[in-house]
Amino acid sequence: MNYIPTAFGFDPDERGHFGKFGGRFVPETLMPALLELDEAYKAVRFDSGFWDEVNDLLHEYVGRPSPLYLAEGLGDELGANIYLKREDLNHTGAHKVNNTIAQGLLAKRMGKRRVIAETGAGQHGVATATIAALMGLECEIFMGAKDVQRQELNVFRMKLLGAKVHAVESGSRTLKDAMNDAIRHWVTHARDTFYIIGTAAGPHPYPLMVRDFQAIISHEAKQQILQKEQRIPDYVLACIGGGSNALGMFAHFIEEETTQCIGIEAGGRGLASGQHGASLALGRPGILHGQLSYLLQTDEGQINEAYSISAGLDYPGIGPEHSYLMEQGKVVYDSVTDDEAMDAFVWLSRAEGIVPAFESAHAIAYLRKMPDIRDKTIIVSLSGRGDKDMVQAMDILKGKL
Ligand SMILES: *Cc1c(COP(=O)(O)O)cnc(C)c1O
Repeated sequence: MNYIPTAFGFDPDERGHFGKFGGRFVPETLMPALLELDEAYKAVRFDSGFWDEVNDLLHEYVGRPSPLYLAEGLGDELGANIYLKREDLNHTGAHKVNNTIAQGLLAKRMGKRRVIAETGAGQHGVATATIAALMGLECEIFMGAKDVQRQELNVFRMKLLGAKVHAVESGSRTLKDAMNDAIRHWVTHARDTFYIIGTAAGPHPYPLMVRDFQAIISHEAKQQILQKEQRIPDYVLACIGGGSNALGMFAHFIEEETTQCIGIEAGGRGLASGQHGASLALGRPGILHGQLSYLLQTDEGQINEAYSISAGLDYPGIGPEHSYLMEQGKVVYDSVTDDEAMDAFVWLSRAEGIVPAFESAHAIAYLRKMPDIRDKTIIVSLSGRGDKDMVQAMDILKGKL
């Protein structure tokens, strides 16, 4: 299953605009680095030599193609045909490595010897440190000081893999501040440094590039479902933090008349509580991290902190392509609360013997909220495995099982 990106009707324009969203809202000093990256990505986007290298590592190192698994335990309960796209089985335990492998190879092509990345819970930091070790690149990770405290184990993993971890003390000391610092660092080190962004967000060309790198998910899933069912699915579901596993899962289905793509944001303690990560449902368009997109913000335009039980979904922004797809009505968006996700975490563990990441449990939970799915065929992106969440799960579920 050799993968190479496809150009879609909903691709951004030359300067990265998805309709009015996206773009490159950055200080002038960052423009040369972005233009250099844009040129480099254009040169490899459809280059079979580059993609041979990517495919080789995805196959031999990551373990792709990931299975499309018929979850009969879930399906029997719902009277539907439920398939799970098993990104949890990738090396490092989630979809993020699809992106870091390809960006790492691009960095090498561009002659860069260092990579930097931002990370929230540490998953993208670990995926970046992993490919840096693999490819012989120096690696520095920017992480909010608060997250460094909360995510001890991932900090240790990154160090074990040879990365240097910077604890960022500015602002709320979380992901958005780590991203600000990574961008600042890149401005002054762009000559030898490649910035690996972890989701389909940031200034152009990142949203397009990351979506292309993750679109292997739906490229595979479409062939797999055609082989198993001789038809495409009625629904495709994925959880949304910045939106990369969702865009990867949706890309090859968005233009299909008979498939409805549904993105699930973090409902946290409920949309009315003010504690959630539902940027599309309750945000307004604004600029953060070099892009125009929906954003959780105050009336004065200050960023509101996002909240979710799952660290990978508590980002106050969202990739610009999702804002566009929502306004165009091409994708439906909804949310799932912490409690619903935790119920689904237990449900999937017991019905299938698969422990999902808290993030992925949001997409699973939505199955129970969908009306009229009897006899429908549904693919859910199982973006990651639950190992990283075990300590937190034990805390939450202690005495309840
Ligand atoms: C990081 C992460 C997410 C959220 O990121 P997206 O870019 O929205 O996909 C979802 N699931 C898992 C397992 C993650 O690690």
